[in-house]
Amino acid sequence: MKKTPPERLIDENGRRIDGRLPDEMRPLRIEAGVLKNADGSAYVELGNNKVIAAAYGPREVVPRHEALPDRAVFRCRYTMLPFSVDERKSPQPSRREVELSKVIREALAPAIFLQEYPRTAIEVYINIIQADGGTRTASIIAGAVALADAGISMRDLVAAIAVGKIGDILVLDINGIEDQFGDGDMPIAMMPSRGEITLLQADGVYTPQQIEEAIKLAQKAIQKIYAEQVRALKSKYEAIKESE
Ligand code: UDP
Repeated sequence: MKKTPPERLIDENGRRIDGRLPDEMRPLRIEAGVLKNADGSAYVELGNNKVIAAAYGPREVVPRHEALPDRAVFRCRYTMLPFSVDERKSPQPSRREVELSKVIREALAPAIFLQEYPRTAIEVYINIIQADGGTRTASIIAGAVALADAGISMRDLVAAIAVGKIGDILVLDINGIEDQFGDGDMPIAMMPSRGEITLLQADGVYTPQQIEEAIKLAQKAIQKIYAEQVRALKSKYEAIKESE
């Protein structure tokens, strides 16, 4: 079901449909270690997005012939649950889910020391419980925390956010309506302390200056997301320490 387009996406005071200013991110909440039966896990809320990630490994590769002699096999699976969107989504994996699984894997992989785990598998399963634009970036945030929570050796975390475009205005962290009716969507993932980009996709038309500006806008938000990822991981381990 297509939503009716709003009259405008930015009002005369520069406010977006959910009241945010162009450079404002939605509220973010991250919790680490939310699942007892996974090696590592994370729960992320980014506005109305609700995402859960479970990480496993290093463990035996199944099927065994897919094992690599010099590094771990790294797999990701992104799944959107049938009730996560307005119109029920079929539980069959869609082409979009297959593509996003690949995109998320490629955004997370550079942060993992895969060579430390030859002949093993490291796996991240991501479930979208509720979607409102930006689920791939919320998944990357959750996936990175789940991997770190599983104790996988990493060179950095990975944090991500999308920058959109409404008319000629760049807007941070677009929601579902802005994604559907806006003029651009540029998801960006980075290893925050290394300052390296691991994912950059773009829908829409941008000038080279706008691309630079979008990366700067994303980078600022990514530092905030990173701080929240670290806080979530620390608070899990502080809670364990206190209970000992
Ligand atoms: N969406 C939906 N049904 C679908 C797929 C997507 O309603 O089957 C919505 C959902 O809110 C999602 C948004 O469209 O977050 C944008 O999807 P996109 O493919 O751009 O990926 P995302 O922005 O979630 O990374």
